[in-house]
This record gives sequence, structure tokens and C-alpha cells, in this order.
Amino acid sequence: MTTRRRFLHSTLLAGSALVLPNGAGAAPTSSRMRVVSTWDFGVGANQAAWPVLTRGGGALDAVEAGARWAEGTLCNSTVGRCGYPDRDGTLTLDASIMDGDGRCGAVAALEDIAHPVSVARAVMEKTPHVLLVGDGAQQFAVEQGFEKEALLTPEAKQAWREWSKAAKYQPQINAERAKRPGNRDNHDTLGILALDADGRLAGACTTSGMAWKLHGRVGDSPIVGAGLYVDNEVGAATASGVGEEMIRNAASFLVVELMRQGRSPMEACREAIERVVRKRPEASKTLQVCFLAMNKAGEVGAFALHHGFVYAVCDAGKQDALLEARSVYA
Ligand code: ASP
Repeated sequence: MTTRRRFLHSTLLAGSALVLPNGAGAAPTSSRMRVVSTWDFGVGANQAAWPVLTRGGGALDAVEAGARWAEGTLCNSTVGRCGYPDRDGTLTLDASIMDGDGRCGAVAALEDIAHPVSVARAVMEKTPHVLLVGDGAQQFAVEQGFEKEALLTPEAKQAWREWSKAAKYQPQINAERAKRPGNRDNHDTLGILALDADGRLAGACTTSGMAWKLHGRVGDSPIVGAGLYVDNEVGAATASGVGEEMIRNAASFLVVELMRQGRSPMEACREAIERVVRKRPEASKTLQVCFLAMNKAGEVGAFALHHGFVYAVCDAGKQDALLEARSVYA
């Protein structure tokens, strides 16, 4: 698994605004291709997405490849097959995918299917709908040829047993993980955005959501406009953190709309975070919310409520960059 060894404390990129060497406004070229993802595990997702772009593939295929890597290969407590379950011990997965023309698909509370992002893509491409949930999502997945398999790992089951003793639902801010040796994060999402050689954008999100959530709880990741939004006219945004805050603020849509009004990706992310704080000043002190955005020129920005949000950037120059976002609270 990717570790924080690769972490770059970059003063050059302080403010989390990454500007393309070939500048905004130029015609798309392969040197403009870029993939960005949330968290340290985003490095692996980017590296799975990048060859799709270099082989001439589109942004949509790239983000699906990156999300599939996280769902299948990464084994943490918050994404895909090794995710932690809900209050009742059931692992449910949420995912979405979107291209820059407004085509999108999503699944929520999906059980026993290893690649929810690909089911989300099938919803987008093979149904007149956008979002399928629970049993209906699983039924559709099986009809599409996805295999049912038990995903809950023994480690996740054991963690749930331990949690059940006190059974206290308490989202943790990931930067505090270091203070909890042996502990795993109890929520995070792989959000991935790509810009292809034709200048087209796409994005995807995949997560097991908040560990120990109520059965049936759906977060922001499969809600288009909350956990993910993409518009080829402007840019793309994705989110991680306590999803209820993103849903309250239609947050990824907000970030894209702020970029439409002329904000840089970092300014747009910061303004969206400030909106979260204004709405719920007390709650915002104890929970994490993070945004990551890329505009159509390939400029990248991020911002978080709390210290500790890192994001991965991959382009022709460097495939394993990991940067830290600025935050409201240190
Ligand atoms: N946004 C996810 C959810 O609320 C969790 C996370 O990304 O931390 O389900």
C-alpha cells in the first residue's frame, strides 16, 4: 500500500493550486493529460488510470480503471472489498461516475458486488436512470453479469465486533489516525478526476461510506452534485469526508459553479469549505470535509476543513506526486 513516505511537503505548491506548464487556454494536447485523486491511496488509483490515457483512451475509461484499482487491489477500511461495515455488520458500497457531457450513473448501498463503479457505469450506459440502490442495484448488477461474492473480510468483521462493544458512531478526522496506533480510518473515499488528450473530463467516486453507519445510510459519493460533478465547459470536482455535509451543500456542484464564475480550483474548493463552516460552525470543528477540483485547463486545487487531506496528482511529468491541501483548522 502507498505510504506517506511519498508525501511531498511542497512549499512551491503551498495553497494547493497546481498550474499546468503549458498554461490555461491552450489547445488540449497529450501533455495536458492529468489524473488527480483523493488521499494517499490516490497514487495507486492514478497509476492505474494513467496508462489508459497514454494509450489514447478517454477520461471516462481512465477514472473507471482508477476506481476499480481502489475497489479491487487496495485493502483499507474505507473503499471496496476491505471496507468496514455498517452498524449491523453489513458492508454496503456507494459509487458514481460522470463524464463532462452530463452523462452519469450511480449505485448506493450495494452489497456483495466487488466493483460498484462499473455497475454505476452500466447504470449510466444501459438504463434510462441515474441511481439504483440496495437490492435493485444488486439485481441489476447480477443481470449485467457481475458476480455476487461475500466481501466482508475477517479483519473488518473483527473490527465491527470490537466496535459493537461500545457501539458509538463517531466519525474520526483522519489526521488523528497517527494518534490512534493500530486504528484504521473509519471513513474516506476514492474520488478521481481525469482530463484526457482531447480535453475531455470525467470523474468517479467509490467508497464503503462511514463505518458503523445506520443500515441504509447513503453518503455523498453516489449523489451526483454532492460527491462528484463534472462539466466539460468548466471543470470537475469530487469530495471526501462526512458526506452529509456535501449533500447539504450540493458541494461538488457548488465547486464547479464557483469555477464557472471565475474562481481557480483552489479558490472554489476553499469557498465551498467556508460555506460548510458558515452553515454548521460547531459541527465543522469535529468532522472532516475535503474537496478536490480540476478545471478544463488542467489546473488542480484542493481545500479541507481539517489538516491532513492529501491528494495525488499524475501527469506526464510525474506519476506519484502527493500533495497536502490547506485547511481551515490546523
Ligand atoms: N464521503 C464518504 C461518505 O460520507 C466518506 C468519506 O469520504 O470520508 O460516505
